Amino acid sequence: MTISDLHCDVCKAFVPGLTGGSEPVDEPGPTGGVRFVYHPGRPQFRDTSGLMCGHCWAKAEQWLGARHRSRRCAVCGAAVDRHSSLHVHRFDEASAWRLCAQHSVEFLNRLRTVQPKLDPATFRFPSTG
Ligand SMILES: [Zn+2]
Ligand SMILES: [Zn+2]
Repeated sequence: MTISDLHCDVCKAFVPGLTGGSEPVDEPGPTGGVRFVYHPGRPQFRDTSGLMCGHCWAKAEQWLGARHRSRRCAVCGAAVDRHSSLHVHRFDEASAWRLCAQHSVEFLNRLRTVQPKLDPATFRFPSTG
């Protein structure tokens, strides 16, 4: 996937300081944007086109917490396994946050790019079939 526009996925603010292409952000900061990747533990559903302005990313990071906990939802601490959690990480960092179904919906529904919005009552991770 490619980044279609350089606007924050949350607040739609124009994000300066990104060159596009595949190279990571040089100096993420309050004014720069942060590219991020998310997937439900399955590479074929990986979405690498996430982009937030520094402000929204800072808020998201606060929500996610500083620690990357393995096998636990970053927000509520519920136990999750690899294929029943959303993995979120910065484009330039390998360590991911995990989110349980409920908090995955909360995270994804904040993104402008997620349409239609997900319904927490019916949300399911892709079948592990
Ligand atoms: Zn923003
Ligand atoms: Zn949770």
